[in-house]
Formats: sequence, structure tokens, C-alpha cells
Amino acid sequence: MQTEYMISIVVPVYNEMEVLPEFHARISGVLDQLSLGAEVIYVNDGSDDDSLSLLNEIYEQDARVAILDLSRNFGKEIAMTAGLHKAQGEAVIVIDADLQDPPELIPQLIDEWQKGYDVIYAKRARREGESAFKKLTAHLFYRLMRSIGQIKIPEDTGDYRLLSRRAVDALNTLSEQHRFMKGLFTWIGYRQKAVIYERDPRHAGESKWNYWHLWNFAIEGITSYSSAPLKLASYLGLLTALGAFSYGIFIIIRTMLYGDPVQGYPSMIVIILFLGGVQLMSIGVLGEYVGRIFTETKRRPLYFINKFSLARTTQKKNDAGQAAE
Ligand code: UDP
Ligand code: MG
Repeated sequence: MQTEYMISIVVPVYNEMEVLPEFHARISGVLDQLSLGAEVIYVNDGSDDDSLSLLNEIYEQDARVAILDLSRNFGKEIAMTAGLHKAQGEAVIVIDADLQDPPELIPQLIDEWQKGYDVIYAKRARREGESAFKKLTAHLFYRLMRSIGQIKIPEDTGDYRLLSRRAVDALNTLSEQHRFMKGLFTWIGYRQKAVIYERDPRHAGESKWNYWHLWNFAIEGITSYSSAPLKLASYLGLLTALGAFSYGIFIIIRTMLYGDPVQGYPSMIVIILFLGGVQLMSIGVLGEYVGRIFTETKRRPLYFINKFSLARTTQKKNDAGQAAE
């Protein structure tokens, strides 16, 4: 079965015990059809349900399975990063465990890779089971990223994609703490290609995302790729100064024409509060960036590993490689 190629599948797993058996059945079905060597790296991102023991069972049954057990929950972006670090394949596929990303698409992704593309991302044709509001906000976010982040993140695209070896190596050189993976995948460049598919609603269990998460995710995306919000403060300041200047001239002229009865308490309060608001907001924006500098300068490792169980097939391949040297 083994050929010269091996592909790695990286699956971040956080409390997915309901879907894992079904997921593994489907992915191994797909892998059986391929005439390529494969390893499936399940990254257990500090699940507190029975996901890990399920994974251990799967590990016993399937020699292609590797388990990377992280020391706690680090979030999906870090879990994917950890998986990419450990992946040894010539091509690496990142896929969610919840079966929203159909494993059946993998042969198509590999096809495009063999045609010479480096990043092949799966693009949804339509969004099943998502509210109109989520679709609208997502759309606005991508437009914003295009205009101020100057980075063309493909729309309707999750993290499901195939990366060539050199794309993975490029990603692995990026050591930042704030990892907005969708952006990084695009940022590294190389030849990118979309494969269109129909996204299914989650198979079981529930999404860990809510609007607060999405909001933070959006802020993360914007502040990691653009300093435009910082400029916002300068422009707001300029605008306010211009407004104040014109208003000043208006008051001078009015006083000269009509005299100066004491008035204007309400307008003064409004102006003071407005200025206070603008200043606080600008400090907040500044704070976002200072906070980021703070976490980056600590240079902490991105994650800790509790245990890494290499796939038995990969082990064999490594041994063969060493013997050949
Ligand atoms: N996930 C993870 N760590 C987390 C949250 C999620 O590894 O802290 C994994 C999860 O197990 C799944 C994938 O990331 O495989 C996507 O999660 P989810 O379906 O909740 O996100 P959505 O599809 O709604 O974006
Ligand atoms: Mg999902």
C-alpha cells in the first residue's frame, strides 16, 4: 500500500466524543481508497469528556493514527499549529472533527496538490443551518479584512485545507502567539486554489463558537493584520479639531453680531462628553495593540504536550528512512 508519498491529516479535537467514531470511520474509509501512505494526527486540545479514551481505542485499532495530547485546552488555532508541527507528510490536510468538513473531499484536494498547488482550501457553496445574521456579519468581516488588512482571506472558507510541505514549513516558522490561522494560511502566499463543496450542518455535539467568540475572533483578525484602527484615532482627532475650529469661528461671529447672553450649557456638556468618549475609545484601541505587544514579548511557548503517540505507520517510515541513510 505504501508509496513514496505520505499525507498527514491534522484533526483538532475538543470534546468531540459524540462524533469521533463516525469521523474516524469516514476518514479511514476515504484513506483506504487512496494509494498513499497516511497518518491521522488527532490533537486532543484538553478535552474534558471521554474524547481521549476514545482516541486511544482508535489508536489501538488503526496503525495510521497518532495522538498529540496537549497539556490543557489551548484553543483551535494553537491545536492546529501543534498538529502542523508534528505532521511529517509531504502534504498536510487540516480538518475539523465535527464532520462539517466532508472527508470525501480529500481525493479532490490531493488532485489539485498533485497539479502543483500549495494551498488548496475548501470553499463552501452554501451555509447550511446558519442564521442570516451570521452570514451577513461574516461577509462584512471579510470585506473589512480585504480593505484594511490588505489580505485577501477567501470568503466562506473554514480551516479545511491541504497544505504542501513547503507551505507547512513556512507556517511553522511563524512563532506569534496571536495566531489567526485563516489569515496566516493566506499570508504565506504560494499558489492557492479553491475547491467548492457543500457544507453539512454539524453532525452531533455543539459548536463552541458564539457571537462573543466571533467578535473576539474578528478583533484578533483585524489587529493582527492591520494598524488601521490606530489611524482611526488620528483621523477622529483631526475631524474633531476641525469641527471645534469651525464652531469657534461661528461663535465669534455670532457674539459680534448678537452680543453674548450666557447660554450654551447643554452644548458644552455634549462636547465634553463627546471628546471624552473619543479619547477613551482611542485609548482602548491603543490598549488592544499594547496588549498584543505584551503577550508577544513574553515569548512563551505556544503549547505544552502531555504525550505524543506517533502513528505506527509513520514510525515504520522513519525507521526505514534512518536505515537508508
Ligand atoms: N476545537 C479545538 N479546541 C477548541 C475548540 C474547538 O480543538 O478550543 C476543535 C473542535 O473539536 C473541532 C474544530 O476545532 O474539531 C472546530 O470546532 P467547532 O465545530 O466548535 O467550530 P465551528 O465549526 O463552529 O467553527
Ligand atoms: Mg464546526
